[in-house]
Amino acid sequence: MLGTPILRRNGYVLKKNLKCFSRSSTCRNLIYRNSSLQLLKNKRFYSTEQQRGVDNNDGSSTSSSWLSYFFTTTISATAGYLLATTFMIDNEKKLNKLEKSIIKNVEVTAKSTLPLTDLESPNYTHDEATEEMIMSKLKEILGNNPENYSIHPSELNAHSDTQFNTHHPNPNIRPKIILFPHSTEEISQILAFCNEYKVPIIPFSGGTSLEGHFLPTRANCLVTIDISKYMNNIIKLNQKDLDITVQGGVGWEDLNDYLADYGLMFGCDPGPGATISGAVANSCSGTNAQRYGTMKENVINMTVVLPDGTIVKTKGRPRKSSAGYNLNGLFTGSEGTLGIITEVTIKCHVISKFETVAVVSFPSIQDAASCASNVIQQGIQLNALELLDDNMMKLINKSGATTRSDWIEKPTMFFKIGGITQNIVNELVNELEKIAHENKCENFQFAKSDEEKVELWEARKVALWSVLDAGRTTDLHARVWTTDVAVPFSKFPEVIEKTKEELDESGLINAIAGHSGDGNFHSFIIYRNDEERAKCTKIVSNMVKRAIEAEGTCTGEHGVGIGKRDFVLQELGTEPVDLMRKIKLTIDPNRIMNPDKVFKTDPNEPEDDYI
Ligand SMILES: Cc1cc2nc3c(=O)[nH]c(=O)nc-3n(C[C@H](O)[C@H](O)[C@H](O)COP(=O)(O)OP(=O)(O)OC[C@H]3O[C@@H](n4cnc5c(N)ncnc54)[C@H](O)[C@@H]3O)c2cc1C
Repeated sequence: MLGTPILRRNGYVLKKNLKCFSRSSTCRNLIYRNSSLQLLKNKRFYSTEQQRGVDNNDGSSTSSSWLSYFFTTTISATAGYLLATTFMIDNEKKLNKLEKSIIKNVEVTAKSTLPLTDLESPNYTHDEATEEMIMSKLKEILGNNPENYSIHPSELNAHSDTQFNTHHPNPNIRPKIILFPHSTEEISQILAFCNEYKVPIIPFSGGTSLEGHFLPTRANCLVTIDISKYMNNIIKLNQKDLDITVQGGVGWEDLNDYLADYGLMFGCDPGPGATISGAVANSCSGTNAQRYGTMKENVINMTVVLPDGTIVKTKGRPRKSSAGYNLNGLFTGSEGTLGIITEVTIKCHVISKFETVAVVSFPSIQDAASCASNVIQQGIQLNALELLDDNMMKLINKSGATTRSDWIEKPTMFFKIGGITQNIVNELVNELEKIAHENKCENFQFAKSDEEKVELWEARKVALWSVLDAGRTTDLHARVWTTDVAVPFSKFPEVIEKTKEELDESGLINAIAGHSGDGNFHSFIIYRNDEERAKCTKIVSNMVKRAIEAEGTCTGEHGVGIGKRDFVLQELGTEPVDLMRKIKLTIDPNRIMNPDKVFKTDPNEPEDDYI
């Protein structure tokens, strides 16, 4: 199934290169090649004529035939020479123009990085007549079938924001249309067209991201492309190779349901409803990451449509490769700013034959976090280590989200312990219990059944809803701010403890959940009005500052979106972000892909596009 698109892809790329010869270096080569081919042909023409002359110069020729030969040869040679010269001059001119534009370009972009101040504002389409033409062309690409696009306000809203986003769009800014493409080729046509008319595009799949990743900015003509409606098929499972190729719109939970029949699983577990392309675009991870890696370690190859419509497949299907730049790494975590991911081949992992869950409570969050760090430091390989603070345990009891509502309301660690034999699991449990007691554990119990084991993890996954539920019981319009940071293991207990102190002092409803195996934790904070939102902003800013001071990161897995752009600057400094901007502008010179996300690309960015 993969063969055909690749062939079509190559045809397409070649066609595109030929068309756009004034811009790419591949095309420059083509011009060189074309002109030298032509010269070669001309050379052959001269020598044939000369050969004929020699042949005819054997003394048997008459003067009239010689004269006619002379005229024919001279005229042909002159015509040929003139033609060839004209062609060469013409090409030379083109070449000179091209070289000059390249040289000028080189002068202009001689810097290896691109500071924001070197840029002017992007020039997006904004006149109504062109917008109308754009809308009708986009519909035409999708066969003018109303099932394949929507301009209904409810769809426009649903593709612009969620209640759990940290940042929200200006209510007056919505995409003009939501497109539901069926194939990589359709997306390629859409992007090539939008690039030509400088139409901003927002990629969308599961809509579960948290930092305003897909919120619309820019009141211009704006298009959202949702690949989850039709591009949600499993393409091929390579069971022996432990990998699977899927379309980007496949939900990760659906994928796990499919893989379970083969004793396999997907390594990451982001929010309920997230898709594989969204997981890749956000470089997600989840509770299993410390065992199976984050999305970055799980991608084998992907197919991406670049902003000009070019289709790129990043690699073949080997587990490892050192062939050239790491394009998988470039697109993983690009948050829709470099292109649209349409297909992905990912690693599958073997589900543990034997597995149990231990639930362990501690007197303080610092003790729980220390226990998690010690487990990792001692090289004990568990399937997952999750931490929920006392507030979270209370809220889970209160929400009734699990069949149990008598969880001990203390900081609690959930350990998933797996192995290929029960003996291995038992050994690991013994080691774990020892470390838990060294860290003052107060209660150590196992899930008593498979159902309970599943339920424990569901409790972890619905943590966000439990907090939101608690907020809604005090105010129907309450919102939740959920955010994450990650730090080295040794700094984890201190950073989490200080953050908890500040959260509890704020008086806001809050909870903490952590992927402790990765030194990664999340805060969930409820706010009901501007004053409480301002408090949240301060707490989050302090939490990030603390993490960065501890040599950590402003986000371990949620990504940057629009909400954490300033924090990325704080964490990395100007030059790395300027380098990212340079890469972005090289791939997307018209800045059409997911404008204003990850870092700024407009020095005059409108201020009231979002809150
Ligand atoms: C309750 C809850 C729990 C969560 N738990 C976790 C967790 O444990 N771990 C974790 O890592 N995250 C978690 N998340 C966050 C979220 O699920 C992840 O960020 C997820 O990867 C987003 O995937 P999505 O399909 O919903 O993407 P979307 O939200 O649709 O998009 C995310 C970003 O990717 C871009 N994008 C979407 N599709 C494409 C595409 N085809 N090509 C290129 N770019 C694209 C979008 O423009 C956007 O910038 C949680 C969220 C919720 C609501």
